[in-house]
Amino acid sequence: MPSERTTGSAQHIVIVGGGYVGMYTALRLQKKLRSELRRGEVVVTVIDPQSYMTYQPFLPEAAAGNLEPRHVVAPLRRVLGRCRIMNGFVTRIEDASRTVTVRPAGADSTGAADRRIGYDLLVVALGSVSRTLPIPGLAECGIGFKTVEEAIFLRNHVLHQLDIAASNPGDEKIRRRALTFVFVGAGFAGIEALAELEDMARDACRWYPNIDADEMRWMMVEATGRILPEVGPEMGRWTEEALRRRGIEVKLETLLKSAEKRQIVLSDGEEFEAGTLVWTAGVKPHPVVGDSDLPLDAKGRIKATVELTVEGLEHVYAAGDNAAVPDLTDTGDFTAPNAQHAVRQAKVLGDNIVADLRGKTRKPYKHAYVGSVASLGLHKGVANVYGLKLRGVLAWLMHRTYHLSRMPTVNRKFRITADWTLALFFRREIVSLGELEWPRQEFELAAGRRQDT
Ligand SMILES: Cc1cc2nc3c(=O)[nH]c(=O)nc-3n(C[C@H](O)[C@H](O)[C@H](O)COP(=O)(O)OP(=O)(O)OC[C@H]3O[C@@H](n4cnc5c(N)ncnc54)[C@H](O)[C@@H]3O)c2cc1C
Repeated sequence: MPSERTTGSAQHIVIVGGGYVGMYTALRLQKKLRSELRRGEVVVTVIDPQSYMTYQPFLPEAAAGNLEPRHVVAPLRRVLGRCRIMNGFVTRIEDASRTVTVRPAGADSTGAADRRIGYDLLVVALGSVSRTLPIPGLAECGIGFKTVEEAIFLRNHVLHQLDIAASNPGDEKIRRRALTFVFVGAGFAGIEALAELEDMARDACRWYPNIDADEMRWMMVEATGRILPEVGPEMGRWTEEALRRRGIEVKLETLLKSAEKRQIVLSDGEEFEAGTLVWTAGVKPHPVVGDSDLPLDAKGRIKATVELTVEGLEHVYAAGDNAAVPDLTDTGDFTAPNAQHAVRQAKVLGDNIVADLRGKTRKPYKHAYVGSVASLGLHKGVANVYGLKLRGVLAWLMHRTYHLSRMPTVNRKFRITADWTLALFFRREIVSLGELEWPRQEFELAAGRRQDT
């Protein structure tokens, strides 16, 4: 397949992935290369299957119904008006020929419509995917918590479980399964998703007269001996106790052994059925990175330099979850895969590309981790920032203020503030719109297909 060169003699910068690193790098280039972009001397192409960047720290609030899901994403075409946006999956990176292969949006998996795009400079910002294990039943019954689609699905799914329990008052087995929710992996994503969804479900129970909120069983299963390592051991322990006080079971040093047909088997010997299994037990670099000809470390991350170029390649840059970036504040270690580093790395990466184009000196990336904030449901939170340890409503306010300030675009900041303000006056929506996933069901029935087909 010949490669496409659609940029004439202009320098072509291709950014694969339009998430934190991809979008913020492109924003930086838009700002710093304004004249070059206008004169057509430089072209920036951002490739992502989605037409939006997801602000992941707000996904738990979107799942809980505190935020409208559309408001936690930033539309790439609107934000990156001077860049080219290409929607499609990058299926291959081949630096030897300086090309990436893209399966455009809507193309089938045969590869017949694949396009090979040439580049002068490449930014690899594909992030990470859930790190799963070959546990029987996990692939069939489990769901991750990384995308806005998963957040919306889980919200609908949890509310639907309440509908199932309420509609089967005489069947204890069905009720117990529907009202059992298991999360595996107690990092940011797992703890926040569990805490927010439990809070929402408990709130929703008031509208289900035949469900007592204490009938629900919410459980966190964690392989190590602690939860939420991001906020440090002391605040992690406090979070564990706060969750237990809410009736949430926290099982430490416990493994999920099997989940076949939703029958959960744990390493402590417990066995039970659960209608919901959420897997948030860590992430690994995107598989396209593993299949590329870029240098990788033992964990499958791209070997990046402190200047955020790829080791041995002056024209390829990498940062964020898919890269091993040396941590200059902690000799011998690498920066953690989180938004705090991703945003800051994108800024330095963008500046270093500009420096390279102008023959100037690159700058190294150096940022000391300032700590973390996490939301544990409405008016509940935990924070450890610059050594300041907060819990409860103060930490929750800090979580909201911090993430609002980081949310890209003024438009989204206003919409989120409006969502929160409305929530002060009206109760949360408790409608499950799960049928949105099967919009043609009603029409197919009307058009004569059998209901069970
Ligand atoms: C629920 C949740 C809550 C979190 N909360 C926090 C928090 O409070 N604080 C914090 O610091 N961090 C938090 N994080 C972590 C943080 O969001 C990530 O570290 C950050 O998103 C990493 O940025 P990235 O650019 O490397 O990857 P991403 O932001 O994931 O971007 C990767 C991009 O690549 C695109 N992509 C995927 N496959 C392809 C393909 N084949 N071709 C082209 N593009 C592709 C994706 O669509 C995506 O846009 C949270 C994560 C989650 C899941």
